[in-house]
Amino acid sequence: MNRPVPMIALWMFLVAPVHGEEIRVTLLGTGDPRPVMEHFGPSILVEAADQTFVFDAGRGALLRLTQLGIAFDEIDGVFFTHLHSDHVVGFPDLWLTGWLVSRRERPLRVFGPMGTREMLESLTRAYSVDIAIRIADDGVAESGSQFEVTEVENGFEWHDAGVSVRAFAVDHRPVEPAFGYRIDFAGRSVALSGDTRYSENLVEHAAGVDLIIHEVVGMTEEFIASRPGSERVYEHHTNAFQAGEIFSRIRPKLAVYSHLAIYEDYDSDRLILDTLQTYDGRVVVGEDLMQFTVGESVEVAEPAAPAIGR
Ligand SMILES: [Zn+2]
Ligand SMILES: [Zn+2]
Repeated sequence: MNRPVPMIALWMFLVAPVHGEEIRVTLLGTGDPRPVMEHFGPSILVEAADQTFVFDAGRGALLRLTQLGIAFDEIDGVFFTHLHSDHVVGFPDLWLTGWLVSRRERPLRVFGPMGTREMLESLTRAYSVDIAIRIADDGVAESGSQFEVTEVENGFEWHDAGVSVRAFAVDHRPVEPAFGYRIDFAGRSVALSGDTRYSENLVEHAAGVDLIIHEVVGMTEEFIASRPGSERVYEHHTNAFQAGEIFSRIRPKLAVYSHLAIYEDYDSDRLILDTLQTYDGRVVVGEDLMQFTVGESVEVAEPAAPAIGR
């Protein structure tokens, strides 16, 4: 059943400005490859100073940005953690629909692992018919469909307007390379794990951050025993006990789970209980459109706009 959107709350959500000394993080999609209405594909919005970044562009990223009132034209950069389809499949929609409806004129900065440039060149070829027609018929600027691509390596850093973004390698083998990112601004810091097993390099680069957004996998032993192939998925990701250990070493003000690879009878409550076996700090299970303000403290805002499908 559809619930009406509470317009007053939505309006407040849309217009609340990000303050001078804060980083604001919004989960655009908290899911994994499975198509689930309340968990869109992995994508995280980060706003700091006058910079607006999107990390990964899973299914529905443009829809979630639209719910927030953010146009594609406002995006200063897109960072890919790795090129698994669940992290990039929303990108053609974000890019092409976003270009058309926002009438963006500046090229988009895109950062990602080796292979990002080839993917973007291939996408440009794949959509060449549409791109040519939009320019000729809709009168949009070709420059708004173009990219400035940077392929990153472990330790890569990008700086602008006092904001720095650092890429660090994580362990998502056989996907190699795969990265997490750390964002620093005005003494505040956020780390995003990307997809990874327990990663020592993540602990090193994310040590002491105010906010960590970490992926997680949750399956019961019975589920793993009954589903051929599930053990492989389980071992490619970080379980709650391991994540708790990581949080204990990083000591963030707040830890948040996103990219929720949790299955059947393993639920959010179990996720928290298992995490608390190895961690005694604040931990939250992410929801689409949940928002975090990183200032003196880290504040959590529940989604003011209901995610589509709930
Ligand atoms: Zn993934
Ligand atoms: Zn992946």
